[in-house]
Amino acid sequence: MNAASEILMKQELSKEDIVSLLSLTNKEDHDTLIKKAYSIKESCVGKKDYVRGLIEFSNQCKKNCLYCGIRAGNTKVNRYSIPDEEILQVIEFAQKNKFTGIVLQSGEQNNIDFTKRITELIIKIKKATTPEFRITLSLGEQSFETYKEWFDAGAQRYLLRIEASDEELYKKIHPDNELHNYKTRLECLENTKRAGYQTGTGVMIGLPFQTIENLADDLLFIKKMNIDMVGMGPYLEHADTPLYKYKAMLLPLTERFNLSLRMIAVLRIMMPYINIAATTALQSIMPMGRERGLKAGANVLMPNLTPGKYRKSYLLYENKPCIDEEADECLDCLSHRVKMVGEEIAYDEFGDSKHFIKRKNN
Ligand code: SAM
Ligand code: SF4
Repeated sequence: MNAASEILMKQELSKEDIVSLLSLTNKEDHDTLIKKAYSIKESCVGKKDYVRGLIEFSNQCKKNCLYCGIRAGNTKVNRYSIPDEEILQVIEFAQKNKFTGIVLQSGEQNNIDFTKRITELIIKIKKATTPEFRITLSLGEQSFETYKEWFDAGAQRYLLRIEASDEELYKKIHPDNELHNYKTRLECLENTKRAGYQTGTGVMIGLPFQTIENLADDLLFIKKMNIDMVGMGPYLEHADTPLYKYKAMLLPLTERFNLSLRMIAVLRIMMPYINIAATTALQSIMPMGRERGLKAGANVLMPNLTPGKYRKSYLLYENKPCIDEEADECLDCLSHRVKMVGEEIAYDEFGDSKHFIKRKNN
């Protein structure tokens, strides 16, 4: 019996167990962990993966997160906001291609005009789609009232990564000011849940200053917060960001990639019924990265449906994949790739988090 099998026999994983699993660099142990997570995925959420089309509809952002390529302080970025009509064309394309939901993502803005625009956009999307079509928002920190207004308008899911659940680490990767406050982020996450959303969070893996203990705490944080969906992936550096100067501290890319797979696998074991995304950042490191994520326990894919002309202006990190493609090219290659790893896309399922359904029924 190898080290991984011994730990995996336990009913409940302690922090020490999680640290040991995340530290398994030996191939046999790593593979044992991944296989165990995949068997749990198969029996709890199945081998069909959910897809949501991602629309990065604006890169206008008032914040300055030290890791992000579209931070306000990066003056090299061409700022855009896709008009509603164009967003609705993407939604039409998504419906034609049997998508059962979309994710609207943007930089962070919070003002009355933005709130109102999003409310009206949600209402237009609801009118243009079937009642089951799901809208996920990823628009950063907002007031409880704004979250509620968008929920009441028809959005059902909200993604707000905690980025790093350790307050000290959070402070190291954000400017030290009120706009980037750990407690506010936490409060916002709680408010998305209180407003009624299926709540998603996540972290970046392989950040400078981050320890394996921090990552184990991140997983325990996600479990304690009773989160419904998770998107976590490798941190990838961008030359035009302040965090770039710590490049030499980073794990090599393949190690960051394998550590991300182990994070997904351990989380699937800890929370068998949640939705876990295989993120684009995985694909940036390895062409089959997202599919490897699916084999480690992830069950959600978010193909990029942002019209091609905007993609070069939404570079969160370097080597972001598919920036020269249009949505239909992305879709062709996606279904092919998913089949290659023995999985199927659940084009006709709404893909609500089973964890959320259980949470609501209790
Ligand atoms: N502005 C919203 C927010 O911050 O929640 C949503 C958009 S933001 C670009 C989406 C996510 O991108 C962030 O939560 C962050 O984890 C991720 N991200 C930003 N820069 C990154 C980087 N250099 N490497 C990996 N992920 C990054
Ligand atoms: Fe803005 Fe989000 Fe990037 Fe932070 S992570 S700078 S809030 S887009």
